Amino acid sequence: MSDNCLFCKMVKGEIPTEKIYEDDQLLAFWDISPQAPKHFLVIPKKHVSGPGDLAVEDDGMIGALVRKGAELGAEQGISDCRLVINNGAQAGQTVFHLHLHVLGGRQLTWPPG
Ligand code: 5GP
Ligand code: ZN
Repeated sequence: MSDNCLFCKMVKGEIPTEKIYEDDQLLAFWDISPQAPKHFLVIPKKHVSGPGDLAVEDDGMIGALVRKGAELGAEQGISDCRLVINNGAQAGQTVFHLHLHVLGGRQLTWPPG
């Protein structure tokens, strides 16, 4: 846990979320500023600032995070979805607690902006 981290505060229940899913290691909730008709985030409960902060012992957790993102997407009606991890400020990361974006519900374009 990191005291000043927005997503850690969500994990601790200090900031409310529109929760979709929770287990012992993951939390999924709707994004406050959706970029597609359906847009939610899947985060590890453990504070990891981003992909570069992952340890070997996190390999199982990151696998579960991606698998759960796709599974929840299908449950939410977006089996065709984009799974995105922004890694670093220049890549668009604004919250430095690892999170997987799951977006869908419209035709998504490539390349991203
Ligand atoms: P990033 O830009 O770091 O990849 O993604 C951070 C995401 O967190 C953004 O899509 C942003 O809309 C979302 N976000 C930021 N603050 C909040 C919040 O207070 N609640 C929720 N549900 N999402 C948030
Ligand atoms: Zn955190």
